[in-house]
Amino acid sequence: MSIEECLRAYPDVPLPIMIKTEALRLGTRFSPEALAALRGVQTPFKGYTIFSGDRGTTVTARERIPHTFTLEDATPVAVRVNVNSPYYIHYREGEFSFTDEHGPVAKVGFIPAPSWLNNCLEDGTAFQAIAFPSQADKILCTLHHYCEFWKFGKQCLFCDSSWFLRVKKRRETGIVAAARPEQVARVLGVAFQESGRRHLTITGGTVLSKVRGKDEVSFFCDYLNAIREAFGGLWWSAILQIVAHTGDELRRLRETGIPGLAMNMEVWDRNLFQVICPGKAEYIGWEEWQRRMFEAVELFGRGRILSNFVAGVEMARPFGFKTAMEAVKSTLQGFDYLMSHGVLPRKDYWTPDDGSALKGQQSPPLEYFIELERGYLELRLKHGFSFPYVAHCRSCTANDVVADWDYHFVKLPEATKEKNAKGPGECSERVAPPELKTRNLRT
Ligand code: SF4
Repeated sequence: MSIEECLRAYPDVPLPIMIKTEALRLGTRFSPEALAALRGVQTPFKGYTIFSGDRGTTVTARERIPHTFTLEDATPVAVRVNVNSPYYIHYREGEFSFTDEHGPVAKVGFIPAPSWLNNCLEDGTAFQAIAFPSQADKILCTLHHYCEFWKFGKQCLFCDSSWFLRVKKRRETGIVAAARPEQVARVLGVAFQESGRRHLTITGGTVLSKVRGKDEVSFFCDYLNAIREAFGGLWWSAILQIVAHTGDELRRLRETGIPGLAMNMEVWDRNLFQVICPGKAEYIGWEEWQRRMFEAVELFGRGRILSNFVAGVEMARPFGFKTAMEAVKSTLQGFDYLMSHGVLPRKDYWTPDDGSALKGQQSPPLEYFIELERGYLELRLKHGFSFPYVAHCRSCTANDVVADWDYHFVKLPEATKEKNAKGPGECSERVAPPELKTRNLRT
């Protein structure tokens, strides 16, 4: 389908949302002209994050493929390379453009690179392998690139993390599975000294046994405490992604001062959770995972416990829902239930990555994503969860269209700009996007 055909099918959906939805759903590729022109561009390149997100190829840093492109209204879009995508980034007469089968659709740009982008620690570890400036307003910090669910063959079926780590180590220098806490603190100290990026997402693979003699919570707390010290005892707007914990472990995480946690369920339907997330199902379980999230809400507060869902994976073959509307209905029921308990679900669109068990599968239809977003927005309004979220603003959500639906469909307050900073880097800015001037470059 061309972008025009998509817009005809959903005439109320604005162009930036449609471009982003399609680019996340089906991926993009780069024309030879764009690849040549990118040699002169400085932007964070793909290859340092925990997941690849690619199909038909595996991009590492040496290919110099941008991690994110932006539309003229500053909509950030994560680049997921798919060699068979109908969409590509092209370069002609001094401009990059998002292009479909009929030609250029909209101009694109790339997010600025920070000055420290190519720095390395004394032992050769690349700063980017620890702190990746993934969006214009965000650092993605990976503490542990290896997930022990893989060791036991219990990894989530959509995940390619440990496979991707092996590829990166083979092809690149400066890649480490787990930098030490003092190294992480030092790199983040440098990264946040430069103005521009205010939000921090901390992630890492699951630790089931011990790493450096520490269990998962002790291992992660060492990092969180070192990072807090690097920030002068205060936290920037930050969130830690970790499996669901309970009791004393949860309290220890709270004591580090981290403002929020993301305990990612990934898929709502109970039977599909068992199949798609076998490690999470076996070690914690569907019901217990939720109970622990609700316990965490008591400690951290409403809206400060997030849970990611891999949108669309509930349609994976052969076990998934057969129709888009069945899948949407199931997932929205889960979102409604979680929001009613103070948990804020978020989404990351599924791509059947080459290093995952679901390699080669078809992406869900456009209908699934449009109807899911419509329903999600309604639920957010019903439960009173406004955007931005903790550690997420419009400039940091390149993998999710939540900010875009919010900006285009939710009436802005009378003052179009609202700032009520709650701490260093805490951001609740909500601004109207400028109009996307270039609706169509085709002449
Ligand atoms: S918990 Fe699942 S998604 Fe996360 S790194 Fe491990 S296997 Fe991958």
